[in-house]
Amino acid sequence: MIEVSGLTKRYGSHLAVKDANFTIQKGEVVGFLGPNGAGKSTIMNILTGYLSLTQGKVEIDGFDIMTDPELAKKRIGYLPEIPPLYLDMTVREYLFFIYDLKKVKFPKDPHIDEIIRLVRITEVADRLIKNLSKGYRQRVGIAGALVGNPDVLILDEPTVGLDPKQIIEIRELISKLGKNHTIILSSHILSEVQAVCKRVIIINRGHIIADDTPEALSKKLSTDHSLIARIAGKEEDALSAINSVRKIETVECLGEYEKGTKDYRIYPADTTDIRGELIKRLAEKNRINLLSLSSNELTLEQIFLRLTGEDEVGKYFNEDMDTAIEVDEVIVDAVDEAISEMEEEN
Ligand code: ADP
Ligand code: MG
Repeated sequence: MIEVSGLTKRYGSHLAVKDANFTIQKGEVVGFLGPNGAGKSTIMNILTGYLSLTQGKVEIDGFDIMTDPELAKKRIGYLPEIPPLYLDMTVREYLFFIYDLKKVKFPKDPHIDEIIRLVRITEVADRLIKNLSKGYRQRVGIAGALVGNPDVLILDEPTVGLDPKQIIEIRELISKLGKNHTIILSSHILSEVQAVCKRVIIINRGHIIADDTPEALSKKLSTDHSLIARIAGKEEDALSAINSVRKIETVECLGEYEKGTKDYRIYPADTTDIRGELIKRLAEKNRINLLSLSSNELTLEQIFLRLTGEDEVGKYFNEDMDTAIEVDEVIVDAVDEAISEMEEEN
């Protein structure tokens, strides 16, 4: 549905986006996550044809945004960071205005009525936009993006400046729209992206530094594949059962946290998932009971800090290329680019 290759954008001498590559399939809900100034809005403005690109190619449903802008843009509904609402229009007047602007072919009244119902702004449809709360204004902006029924919705920081209740409402609306649309939304807030998106593209200083599901990112980046098992019964029985599992590097007893039980940290020899076999061995052993088993996965917050080199491990990766070789390609690329950037600067 959306194909981006080698996308680069310069503002004068400032490199805002460098060699971005990604494909988004129909029906995906993808989050652009990155701190302010990362390049999220720049990429969105290019995808929607509002901004030209310096290098690279963007295709929407097979149409090149530079050579076929009309056909490409028709497939996209855009909510910019600051939606251009006309404050002296009523909501309905504004949506009619957008309808005319986009030269939509559907029957006018039923189309706009349907959108008003979908984003739940019926009760304010005939009020002036200037008298609406920020939450309602954001809904009107989303309604504007939906005019013409585009397949793709691009929402730039859709919940910024809203109160917690409004944030939840907009999130619910986005999830609902995600059933029938391909959506890209941007945010600098981790929990936001985690709540709505199944895929996260992490952008930092103009570079895509990761692109995966929140869960997979967490797995990939975790340098610690250890498991923690809470087992009821004698330590020697527990250890002998654990040690009968193949591909175990070491086991460490962490002590008693709950009466009659002990916690064990188990390090697998490699990245093999040993959970199935471990549970089986523990179940076979008499006199002990496995009460819980957990892995040491990172939260999206920790992943983000690690990828952007702002936590201790991240700093280490960014400094030490030998260590980086072991890690995911994504990080290696980021380190490479950071180094060549530093060389350029010097
Ligand atoms: P984000 O949306 O992730 O906060 P932006 O895409 O707005 O980031 O900005 C990326 C970088 O490009 C920032 O360093 C920003 O200062 C710069 N930038 C954005 N727009 C312009 C512009 N029109 N002219 C010059 N620099 C810009
Ligand atoms: Mg922005």
